[in-house]
Amino acid sequence: MSVRAALETKIVWMTKALRFCRAYLQNYFAPNRFRAPAAPRLSIESTNICNAKCVFCANPVMQRKKQPLSMELFKKAVDELAAMGSTSLDFNVTIGDPLLDPYLLERARYASRTYPQFSSLGFVTTLQWLHRFPIDEFWDSGIKWMSISTALSGREKYAEFFGVDKYDQMMRNLLTLIEENRRREKKIIYVIHIKPTNEPVEAVLDHPDFQRINGMVEQDLVAEVKTRGLYVDDWQGAVNLPPYLKKRPLVPRAFRPCGQLFGGMIVYSNGNVGACNCRDFETTSELTLGNVKDNSLVELWSGDKLARLRSDWRRKNKVPEICKTCRHYNY
Ligand code: SF4
Ligand code: SF4
Repeated sequence: MSVRAALETKIVWMTKALRFCRAYLQNYFAPNRFRAPAAPRLSIESTNICNAKCVFCANPVMQRKKQPLSMELFKKAVDELAAMGSTSLDFNVTIGDPLLDPYLLERARYASRTYPQFSSLGFVTTLQWLHRFPIDEFWDSGIKWMSISTALSGREKYAEFFGVDKYDQMMRNLLTLIEENRRREKKIIYVIHIKPTNEPVEAVLDHPDFQRINGMVEQDLVAEVKTRGLYVDDWQGAVNLPPYLKKRPLVPRAFRPCGQLFGGMIVYSNGNVGACNCRDFETTSELTLGNVKDNSLVELWSGDKLARLRSDWRRKNKVPEICKTCRHYNY
């Protein structure tokens, strides 16, 4: 590396470090940083079934039963959330692909038609299973957004990252999504996230499939590829990351409870309710507050267990085990 290049790299790192320090300080003193709102955001893990085996995901090692959340518990959770005055509901999972949920459209219709305040229903998906749904019903269900997790550089690289040979199926569904959404005046907002496959950026940008899709969408996919992060989390050591992926830095968290504990909760597909939807893939950690079958959301959100999790971390530096090594810690 030339002296100039080395200097430039050093400047980039120093700028990043300075930006981090400033944000780290500012966040601590942000108004209401350690105060929870009266009503939470809620993510509902409508199913924890996913056929993929992404290289950075705990799905292949997850032991809990693979199932959709029952409609009865789903409706109970949504009714209780609405009664609390929340306006924020989505189908984001800890593990799972909502397009493999047999009740997905029924759930979306129930939530959006019974409670119009839930106007931001959406989820992350590989899009491998969009063809399972009748197109008109899908677009009329109340689903407002989708975040597409994918790779567009051919079958081989896709299978390497996602662990399944579903590239062609995903591509057909992606083309359907783009075309049908255009016909329906962009009723669903979607964003394409290109996953970090093990190949140079140029190889992705030069691939004909990438170029074709990039020419069809409004999103700047070139920028998306150039800013792909190679830094991820390893789910408390449960996942052996491939050498080209690196662990995100472990941000200091003493006496500083994670921001996730002040914003929302998740109802898992087994009915368990968690204080954070991020890493608890077995739903057995200290962050599990109860079960929606036996507890109301309001009692879990305002109850002692969650209050103690927050205050023990803040006052006694008692960090939940699962949070000690979590690289998605929200400072
Ligand atoms: S990251 Fe998502 S798509 Fe990949 S295996 Fe995990 S749950 Fe499935
Ligand atoms: S540290 Fe990680 S697991 Fe713990 S609350 Fe934050 S995001 Fe969730």
